[in-house]
Amino acid sequence: MRLNHWIDGQSVPSRTDRWLDVHEPATGRVLAQVAAGDAADVDAAVDAAKRAAPAWAALRNSERAMWLERLAAGIEAKLETFATAESRDAGKPLRLTRTIEIPRAISNFRFFAHAATQFASESHHGEAGLNYTLRSPLGVVAAISPWNLPLYLLTWKIAPALAAGNTVIAKPSEITPWTATLLGELCGEIGFPAGVLNIVHGLGADVGEPLVSHDDVKAVTFTGSTAVGRRIAGIASPLLKKVSLELGGKNATLVFADSAWREHLDTLVRSAFQNTGQICLCGSRLLVERSIHEEFVDAFVERVTALRVGDPIDTDTDMGPLVSQAHFDKVTAAIARATDEGGRLVCGGHRVDRPGWYLEPTVIDGLGPDCATNRDEIFGPVVTVQAFDDEAQALALANCGDYGLSASVWTHDLGRAHRLAAALRVGMVWINTWMQRDLRTPFGGAGASGLGREGGWEAMRFFTEPKNVGICLENCE
Ligand code: NAD
Repeated sequence: MRLNHWIDGQSVPSRTDRWLDVHEPATGRVLAQVAAGDAADVDAAVDAAKRAAPAWAALRNSERAMWLERLAAGIEAKLETFATAESRDAGKPLRLTRTIEIPRAISNFRFFAHAATQFASESHHGEAGLNYTLRSPLGVVAAISPWNLPLYLLTWKIAPALAAGNTVIAKPSEITPWTATLLGELCGEIGFPAGVLNIVHGLGADVGEPLVSHDDVKAVTFTGSTAVGRRIAGIASPLLKKVSLELGGKNATLVFADSAWREHLDTLVRSAFQNTGQICLCGSRLLVERSIHEEFVDAFVERVTALRVGDPIDTDTDMGPLVSQAHFDKVTAAIARATDEGGRLVCGGHRVDRPGWYLEPTVIDGLGPDCATNRDEIFGPVVTVQAFDDEAQALALANCGDYGLSASVWTHDLGRAHRLAAALRVGMVWINTWMQRDLRTPFGGAGASGLGREGGWEAMRFFTEPKNVGICLENCE
């Protein structure tokens, strides 16, 4: 199978006819080859997007909304195809792609179709005449996304950019390019206007950087690692482009003795191991009140060891493999480092004996807040446990380190829940729940976890340029 770019309404290979192997995580075998784009492909896509921009921006909001609805309906009609492709390409349980991730990609298009018709700009009066603010599309924008939620995160960026009237160059991860390719093909099938959405595959250095530095690209929305986010900011900032960065995390899960933690064990386990721990919002640092530490770890580990690790296509599977050999090596190296640092493997830590990049879900106890294991993002099925004595210590442990994406707090004490929600240095807090998402809310992180927010009006504002118009009503001199 060969996966082409989608440029100017056409499925095309790279101009250089170079290809990259795409591996199936469940077997380790080559599943497909994806076009290895370069600056010439980026130029072609940007030219197409630039040509398409005036007509797309001139459509009524309701007409753009209709196109987004058609994309949503098109994915919905092929749910099984998209869900199976995502499962095989990324090693995700089919149950997850079928019931959560592809439906969420559909919701992203539907949600921002509605946003296109509901978005309004501000007006200010009573102080200096009448002021109203126009919000215009930026023009051509770039969306660069990672492998962990391939279509889900790509559409989270494409949908608001299109809804706000921009044309888009999307660069999916070269590790999981299949569903983005299907999205391009869907554009062809529904007659989506050529050049409005372009998808260019390839490596970050070969496609991502030329895209970020291209003169005609006015804004960059990026989700991925903090290291690459910093590099993109370094290129885009001197060029004075708008940048939105959704980066790594090292999220804390704070479990207090007064919470109904036993009732919530399934959610607590899910918050650590969903998608093999490869979700930026996964809680990878469990902070547990000392009085329940031992019984909590026993009960938690009992559930973790019951997780069915296996073929993602099997609907009984709870946890699939890691996404690639390189990522498998990174995660196993992190486990080895944890034991070197004095951590105790409570469960897991080993490769599962089958082809593909399977790793046992792993729980590590006995490490303090300053070790690399508790500071660096691992992004795999690995959680650490730390005990705390009181609320102040829990907060100090949670706020340790550079990342600040999300946290979950498990307590029945309402005052404590609100105190911690205000004091945690993160972009998102859940109380007695995890990853409950309302697409209207601001999404993003603090510190090394990112810059700016996406979601709802935040995204619509990011993808538009405000222009204020002041009008004299009377006595203006
Ligand atoms: P990555 O940074 O390696 O790659 C992300 C994307 O950037 C890919 O498409 C890649 O090809 C591209 N890229 C790489 N180098 C580039 C460069 N120099 N210029 C432009 N583009 C470049 O990240 P990844 O390994 O694909 O994803 C995992 C990371 O993503 C983790 O750190 C995770 O926490 C993070 N993530 C964050 C969020 C969030 O919302 N905060 C969500 C999902 C994943």
